[in-house]
Amino acid sequence: MDEGQELKQINQIIGVFVNKARQELKARWDQWHIDLSKNEFYEVVGALLARQVTLATQLAENPLIWNGHIAPLILRAMADVYISLAWILKEPIDRSRKFVLYGLGQEKLNLEHRKAQIEKRDPTPAEKIMIESSEAWINSQRFTFLTEVNLGSWSGISTRQMAEEAGCIDFYNYVYTPFSACSHSMWNHIARYNLRQCLNPLHQYHRCPYDPEMPVDPEYLYLAGKYLQKSFSTFDESVDMKIEGQSAFEILCEDLNQLNKVSDES
Ligand SMILES: [Zn+2]
Repeated sequence: MDEGQELKQINQIIGVFVNKARQELKARWDQWHIDLSKNEFYEVVGALLARQVTLATQLAENPLIWNGHIAPLILRAMADVYISLAWILKEPIDRSRKFVLYGLGQEKLNLEHRKAQIEKRDPTPAEKIMIESSEAWINSQRFTFLTEVNLGSWSGISTRQMAEEAGCIDFYNYVYTPFSACSHSMWNHIARYNLRQCLNPLHQYHRCPYDPEMPVDPEYLYLAGKYLQKSFSTFDESVDMKIEGQSAFEILCEDLNQLNKVSDES
């Protein structure tokens, strides 16, 4: 198979995956019996699932970032979403409220910082709009519990503890932690990806900065599909939902296998 053909096939695989992932999200939302008296739970869980679909579909649609420089940033964000989701589902109402409160607290803090920054002068028209829209967004939240509970920290515990309580410590150890090195540009990432040995033999084999091009690796698309499926499955199990038919991830696995077979043969 030539490169043009392979690219065409990859584009097809992406298109199918993206459509199917969005359909799956919609199918779950349509089937879920929503209790408006506990709206915060449904909105938080719905938004986290949608966020997971967004992260997976954005990664899918940008094959040039399917490499060790950038893909782990997105996969690590997906790991964060998964752990939050799994932890919230164990104690839905209390924990989704905590999640909302923390986010609103952060927004208020940002707003105060912005106001403090321009304290001694009048805001520009653009700043005025930004401040007003942030205030309006905070005040538009219609959750009744907002008046009952004080601002606290989000979960009050570390991500590791959340993963332990949600029964996904393996996921934390094998996915979240390794991808953190890339997300935080730690030494164990940058020394591998952004240094190469100097060619001057008199320089004692020191390493020099380097920004290498990386090949497109479909393994990263596979991982995004896998974490999306893991999120859907955890949700389904928790709320007792059955979704008919093949999942986006199952189709993706078949398509990627097919792609490997064809490129091995040619
Ligand atoms: Zn040198």
